[in-house]
Amino acid sequence: MTTKKKPASSGKEKKKASKPKAAKRADFHIGSDTIKAGTRKIIDLPISALPNRLQMNLPVHVFHGRRDGPTMFVSAAVHGDEIIGVEVIRRLAQRPALKQLKGTLLLVPVVNGYGFLNHSRYLPDRRDLNRCFPGSEKGSLASRLANVFLNQIVKVCDYGIDLHSAALHRDNLPQIRITKNDDAILELARVFNAPAILHSNLREGSLRKHAAELNVPVLLYEAGEALRFDEKAVRTGLSGILRVMQHIGMIRVDKIPKKRTDPTVFIKSTWLRAPTGGLLRLFKGLGETVEKGERIGVVSDLLGEMDIDVVSTRTGMIVGRTNLPIVNGGDALVHIARASLEESELSSAEALGDDEDSENLFYEDEII
Ligand SMILES: [Zn+2]
Repeated sequence: MTTKKKPASSGKEKKKASKPKAAKRADFHIGSDTIKAGTRKIIDLPISALPNRLQMNLPVHVFHGRRDGPTMFVSAAVHGDEIIGVEVIRRLAQRPALKQLKGTLLLVPVVNGYGFLNHSRYLPDRRDLNRCFPGSEKGSLASRLANVFLNQIVKVCDYGIDLHSAALHRDNLPQIRITKNDDAILELARVFNAPAILHSNLREGSLRKHAAELNVPVLLYEAGEALRFDEKAVRTGLSGILRVMQHIGMIRVDKIPKKRTDPTVFIKSTWLRAPTGGLLRLFKGLGETVEKGERIGVVSDLLGEMDIDVVSTRTGMIVGRTNLPIVNGGDALVHIARASLEESELSSAEALGDDEDSENLFYEDEII
């Protein structure tokens, strides 16, 4: 009995026979630009002319993967002085994993170019961009910028990650802020794996609120201090984005630091305020736990005549703090987050809301 020997075939032919070539992915269109599948391109969306005739644009780095997958944006400096995210995006753009990207990634390192140049949170007319969404074509400068960002970036995406930091002279523990009762967002927040997840309501005019109305889930990352780089905040942000991209199938395993522990989900938080004006010394830092009744700092007068203790009113973790030792009575000193309610609250009306008015609670992030 003889067997016919199969004709030898090269590996290449074999591959061809078993795997027909996939149809080429469609081009990606944004503004007046076209990006071919498997390429990247930096494009500028025009915003307006500056008074000195220079043009203000919204720069976007588009990575249009060869293969299909989700479209996601990563944005920073919606508040122009919150620059940690700018550095996160700079590092993200260099990751080798993006060469094998599935889907499309839109990197917007500086949304508010005006504030970025002026080292300011705001637009030149003192408007806060994150209160001006959805914006309009003929509105204020902030409104026009919001309109371009929402319609040309957010609207075409399946996911978004918006990077922020605390206000001037404030520091935030790396944290993700999400709305209550949204399991899909909570899952992404857990995957991101910042040390803390905080519940915060969607605010009128915010990017997160209007993205939610377009069914685009957006993770809000808060870390570090305005106008400063913070290596831990940058690395936590970068790792978190890569984990999310891996989770939603955009990249394969890159060198992402392993998760250390699961993040803690905090359901309530409160700001501890200065009992009086003076010089502040805090004994506790970000990420440390404090007990109700614990002495965590002192406010002293200039000449050493008086020391007044700063006593924690809650048991919880410090997720934000001031870095400025010059304080007035009532200044927000320490942001304490709690993972559970106290027993006395469980049956009381207080449990229904935040410790303070929930809107005011996060206003402290924007005080300069
Ligand atoms: Zn911000």
